[in-house]
Amino acid sequence: MNAKGIEGRALGAGAIFVDDYAGSFNPEYRGYDGRQREGGGLYSWDEEPSPERFPVDDPEWMTARVKQVARFFGASLVGITKVDPRWVYSHYFERTTGKTGKLEIRYRYAVVIATEMDWDFVNTSPDWEASAAAALGYSHMVEVAGSLARYIRMLGYPAVPSGNDTAQSIPLAIDAGLGELGRNGLLLTPEFGPRVRLCKVFTDLPLIPDRPIDFGIQTFCETCHSCAQSCPVDAIQWGDRSTEVPSICNRKGLLRWTVDTARCYLYWKENGKSCGNCMAACPWAFQNPRDWLEYPKQ
Ligand code: SF4
Ligand code: SF4
Repeated sequence: MNAKGIEGRALGAGAIFVDDYAGSFNPEYRGYDGRQREGGGLYSWDEEPSPERFPVDDPEWMTARVKQVARFFGASLVGITKVDPRWVYSHYFERTTGKTGKLEIRYRYAVVIATEMDWDFVNTSPDWEASAAAALGYSHMVEVAGSLARYIRMLGYPAVPSGNDTAQSIPLAIDAGLGELGRNGLLLTPEFGPRVRLCKVFTDLPLIPDRPIDFGIQTFCETCHSCAQSCPVDAIQWGDRSTEVPSICNRKGLLRWTVDTARCYLYWKENGKSCGNCMAACPWAFQNPRDWLEYPKQ
């Protein structure tokens, strides 16, 4: 490996360090098992709520407080939704133990959190720095979700912190009003475009859900093909939204632009690191997109 590669790999290792070592104390943990039992760490489901319950007389106040606390712990954006069971994975599979079974999330709400990724680093995609920006996002995710889950449990309510495991974060984030789905298959937020990582905390703490937002992305993406142009393996659709899917890895029946996930991931393997071209190429990913895009400022 050349010197640039050695430095880039070191950068990535530092960026993912918190997720690797704090996400779960199980060294085989990779974050996609579907549930985090018996592994310890910040994503653990095992901690019981405090027996001393904080009375929630005013769910509106509690909702505002949870959002404030999530931001205090490092969230860039926070929204709340009722859990739509369509977005919860049907089964879990623990690679380390071989255990598998039906996955059930009975909690009413998901607090969905977005953490901003560094624009200068994202903009180097598909180079090491962009890969490190994604890796650091994973470290931020586990820190914020784990801390928020601990806060809620200490209030006396159950809480399950979740990164990519357990349920699909993008549809939950859309339901929670954080943004819309773009042609690039990513959540586009008004504040940072697709330049975010997502995590969530499931809970029964009495909260008030947000509503989905419409800031014009479906129309915008119809004429903008910047992400499709940037993709080295043509994994992003050029045509209209469809309910059909290009790969066995995609889910049928939802009207949207679907990224050919298999083709994308095979490119990551070939590239030796992740790729974020379709994130960096999106005009909504630039810093402060509303300063130059003709959309209302909030
Ligand atoms: S991450 Fe890279 S390979 Fe995957 S869809 Fe985006 S641009 Fe294409
Ligand atoms: S690059 Fe353009 S088409 Fe692609 S997601 Fe962003 S706005 Fe939509």
